[in-house]
Amino acid sequence: FIHGGDSLPHDRRLTVLSGPSGVGKSTVVAELRRSHPEVWLSVSATTRKPRPGETHGVEYFFADDVEFDRLIASGELLEWADFAGHRYGTPRTPVLERLAAGVPTLLEIDLQGARQVRAAMPDALLVFLAPPSWAELERRLRGRGTEPPDVIARRLEVGLTEMAAEKEFDLTIVNTTVKDVCHRLIALMGSSSSS
Ligand code: 5GP
Repeated sequence: FIHGGDSLPHDRRLTVLSGPSGVGKSTVVAELRRSHPEVWLSVSATTRKPRPGETHGVEYFFADDVEFDRLIASGELLEWADFAGHRYGTPRTPVLERLAAGVPTLLEIDLQGARQVRAAMPDALLVFLAPPSWAELERRLRGRGTEPPDVIARRLEVGLTEMAAEKEFDLTIVNTTVKDVCHRLIALMGSSSSS
């Protein structure tokens, strides 16, 4: 279920996980946070409101528009994007610090962000998380239950476009099970410990 990964060097420390909304990126990241604390997961800033169970500083830094404008203006974001009506961005300094220290570092960001990282840091390893099928992705997006219908419709639209971007990535991991995806990601990142 990994395509194209065989010839890649294993010393690239910045890994970017992207893919269509609803494919299960945040579930994978939550499992990694639990099982692989040696991997550092970048915490993005976002202007969207917290979902139930989300904690400021853990899943995201929740910011208002004024604060987000300030982050952009001061150059503090490595990349940022507008996604389904809200802004999301990766704080630059924490990422560069981890990379300088040799810590395996993972960004979970949307496609627009992945493209910006590709441009800014050509050595980054871009991993596309693909759903087992489009039908499965649609089912997951509808089933989340935390978003109003108009928001789900917008996310489906974005997701369809995002599926076409797979070819821009270094490799694809098909989201069969969360544990399997984590296992493959960890292997790619050259980290030895496991849960
Ligand atoms: P959600 O609102 O479901 O948490 O995230 C929506 C989308 O924003 C997901 O595709 C997620 O990967 C993306 N995202 C989260 N953080 C960032 C970020 O810092 N930069 C970019 N470009 N996208 C992000």
